[in-house]
Amino acid sequence: MTFPSALEEHFRLWPPQKAALKKLGIKTIADLLYHFPSRYGDTSEMKNVANLAQGETAVVFGKISGLKMSKGFRTKISMAEGLIEDGTGKIKAVWFNQPYLAKMTAEGALVRIEGKISERKKTGELYFSNPKIETVDKLPTGVGDSLFGAAGEKHSLYPVYPESRGVTSNWIYHAVGKIFKSGILENFPDLIPKDILSKYNLPGVKTALVWIHAPQKTSDALAARKRFAFEEVFLIQLQKQRAKKEWQKNSSCSINHAEEHIKKFTSRFSFPLTSAQERAIAAILADFKKNFAMSRLLEGDVGSGKTAVAATTAYAAVTTTPRNQNFGNLQVAYMCPTEILAAQHFESFIKYFSHLPVQIALITGSGCRKFPSKVNPDGWTDISRNQLLKWVANGEIPILIGTHALIQKSVKFKNLAYVIIDEQHRFGTAQRQKLVRKDHIAPHLLSMTATPIPRTLALTIYGDLDLTLLDEMPPGRKPIITEIVLPNGREAVYEKIRMELKAGRQTFVICPRIDEPDPTKALAVQAKSAKAETKRLKEKIFPELTVAVMHSKLKDGEKEKVMDRFRNGKIDILVSTSVVEVGVNVPNATVIVIEGAERFGLAQLHQLRGRVLRSTHQAYCYVFAETNSKAVVARLDALRRAKDGFELAEYDLKFRGAGELSGRQQWGVSDIAMEALQNLKMVEAARAEAGRLIAEDETLSRYPLLAESIKTRDGEVHFE
Ligand code: ADP
Ligand code: MG
Repeated sequence: MTFPSALEEHFRLWPPQKAALKKLGIKTIADLLYHFPSRYGDTSEMKNVANLAQGETAVVFGKISGLKMSKGFRTKISMAEGLIEDGTGKIKAVWFNQPYLAKMTAEGALVRIEGKISERKKTGELYFSNPKIETVDKLPTGVGDSLFGAAGEKHSLYPVYPESRGVTSNWIYHAVGKIFKSGILENFPDLIPKDILSKYNLPGVKTALVWIHAPQKTSDALAARKRFAFEEVFLIQLQKQRAKKEWQKNSSCSINHAEEHIKKFTSRFSFPLTSAQERAIAAILADFKKNFAMSRLLEGDVGSGKTAVAATTAYAAVTTTPRNQNFGNLQVAYMCPTEILAAQHFESFIKYFSHLPVQIALITGSGCRKFPSKVNPDGWTDISRNQLLKWVANGEIPILIGTHALIQKSVKFKNLAYVIIDEQHRFGTAQRQKLVRKDHIAPHLLSMTATPIPRTLALTIYGDLDLTLLDEMPPGRKPIITEIVLPNGREAVYEKIRMELKAGRQTFVICPRIDEPDPTKALAVQAKSAKAETKRLKEKIFPELTVAVMHSKLKDGEKEKVMDRFRNGKIDILVSTSVVEVGVNVPNATVIVIEGAERFGLAQLHQLRGRVLRSTHQAYCYVFAETNSKAVVARLDALRRAKDGFELAEYDLKFRGAGELSGRQQWGVSDIAMEALQNLKMVEAARAEAGRLIAEDETLSRYPLLAESIKTRDGEVHFE
């Protein structure tokens, strides 16, 4: 057995296990060792069936029988049930929408059941509803007995691994045990240099692996988690700081501007710049003058006016002539995550530049446009992709706005000097590297985001960028009135919305999903779907109004049509999934209803709410929760209290759970590193150590293991 060897060589795997491991990204022995428990159960918390009470969450061990599947009589929801017996009594377990559970468990098997105890109203009978189930080899002999302890040892903590269909915690635990027994752990390479381990009092990798998978006591598990969290943050920091060093080696087009020149441009705006906008513009213009490429992140809450900053700095670039030339101009590329946003920014740039002889073009998967049009100097015209590519290549079009289509190989610029990236937090090192020309000239790079994230996360994932905060809202914005609405408050809210709509305003309704849930899917989310909600609002609630639907599965052209109709006031109520989350600007929409709000993170809810912070009309946000749960309502209430998105993001980090900051999906950071991000000191230490190493030894030649693992990480950068 070796660390890189495939699991299949050492374990007999059933097809469902193979599939599950693949989904978890576990291929090798080392991968499995680095698949950490999400928490630990304590066998001493285990209960006897006879002592269970309604409402509690309990763990019982027993024998399962009477497994059967059925369909709800009226609801047609598929159900599975079984009976668990532990010597003190019997209790039923019922699973909704998960019929495969009954299929996967053998009649008469010994199982561990964990879940909530409910009570049947009519009969008072207790049952487990939707509990977790896994088969075990033997039953503990009594409460407090160790299930996993081999002869002689006594663990009362057992690891619980992240849930996944097909491979159980128990299987992983035993597989890890087998790897430990093989003795190969002795040679497991430690990525963290020894001096750093001892400086921060962190366990070595071998000890930490044993402690994280099979802790004798909680403090060992915690020490191990701390070590691996440090390791991940340290690696990310090394990678980012190396990338920053690399990037700064590229020279860049220097863009020099007199203040008056810029002032003339901004003085035409219909508003005075906020001082935060002034500061951001100044920081970018200062970077432009340096002889290496800028990489800066502009982080500003929804509606803080990032577009004006982008337009002003773009103006500085396109009015500069290329080096060693006294004609022509530098070019700007503005990249957006969706076609809707690209089209919207195209329109707003036209407004910013209409008085100047500056051509602006739009390129997306569904077509190309150019402003001004020859026949209509105030408007744009459709042009062919080939024509556009030609004009971009010969420098005639200085500003190109678009989706990813923008940085494809076929798009060649003559003098690309400045790239603006809107709302794409995953525009990583690899993508950035593609922008560097063969002669090592790179464009200045500005990433803009409204996604407020905690400081520790920003230090980590944006470690290679310089940060500018746009921490001031344009004046005159009325705070949005936010109401958390419980299920019985729905009718009253619809009446208030009707009043707003009568006054000529428009409304967004955000749903957590597109379609009705597929009842055969595991744990199908029973949340409102955009399609069904559209139908319901149209037929039952607002028959006199125009209701339309918007979601990611609509064709791109279709999406834009719907958006246009909404923007032009032809649609009163737009029911949508969170695709409208980022950047969409419809000033007349003053009401947003968010359905199933408990399924969104607070920072995301804040983003959604920002959709109606676009004008001087009073705006309203109605947050519907599908439960009356006190904890949910308390969490949502933070939306009313928090002063800004950053506060909410910190809140999300602290109370992380389903639907909130999900590390891997959203940021490419593992769960264990997300834990670490609650600890500013640790993040700062990892950052400082990484900085020291890179400063001493830029290519990490003295740390080949580290150099190698950073290279692997680089390859993993995702692209939305
Ligand atoms: P975001 O930062 O979310 O991208 P936008 O750039 O879309 O925000 O700006 C939101 C709205 O605020 C736009 O309608 C824009 O014209 C307006 N705006 C921007 N800056 C100011 C300002 N300094 N004063 C008043 N309104 C502004
Ligand atoms: Mg924006």
